[in-house]
Amino acid sequence: MNLIFASNNKGKIIEVQTLISESITVVSLLDAGITEPIEEPFDTFRENAWAKADYVYRKTGLPCFADDSGLVVPALDGAPGVYSARYAGESANDAANNHKLLQAIAGIDRPGAYYQAVICYIDKNGDTHYFDGRCQGYLIHTPRGKGGFGYDPLFVPDGHTGTFAELSQDIKNEISHRGAAMRSFIAFLDQTES
Ligand code: IMP
Repeated sequence: MNLIFASNNKGKIIEVQTLISESITVVSLLDAGITEPIEEPFDTFRENAWAKADYVYRKTGLPCFADDSGLVVPALDGAPGVYSARYAGESANDAANNHKLLQAIAGIDRPGAYYQAVICYIDKNGDTHYFDGRCQGYLIHTPRGKGGFGYDPLFVPDGHTGTFAELSQDIKNEISHRGAAMRSFIAFLDQTES
């Protein structure tokens, strides 16, 4: 079965490919011929995931899924939240976003934070399904590690001493927000698509 993943984020695509079963071929947006950026106009993860999946489904008529995810820092009133990818501006890169986050948390001792992911899946009949995952942890004030992407050098998941950027991809997949949401999604696919 071919499934379009409505993302152009290379870090995410790599993670999803390692998680999803071999019987399912994940097709990227580019491979599905969609090159234009897809709007994320809402202020909840769920609605933005739906907006991306709905756009691709309406354009291709094929089963597809999208995720929306981000880092939530309660001490910053939930920022960067759904704006995680563009926290430091529309075309901000990871370094600029991390720099802004470090400034925002300066002076806060061990700020709690969590990553949230929501997957929206639109099946071949056009029915919509949602899957959620969360990973709780805290932020540090000096980036550590070279792996992962986004805010990973600043985020230490609960139960670990290394940042997401220091942990292996396998461990990150086991405990991450996207790993949890993907496992619920895959269990659903195994039940319904086999
Ligand atoms: P999205 O592509 O709109 O879902 O935006 C996700 C953004 O949230 C990314 O660009 C990162 O800034 C942040 N993010 C989400 N998941 C992760 C993760 O696993 N590690 C690091 N940053 C993440």
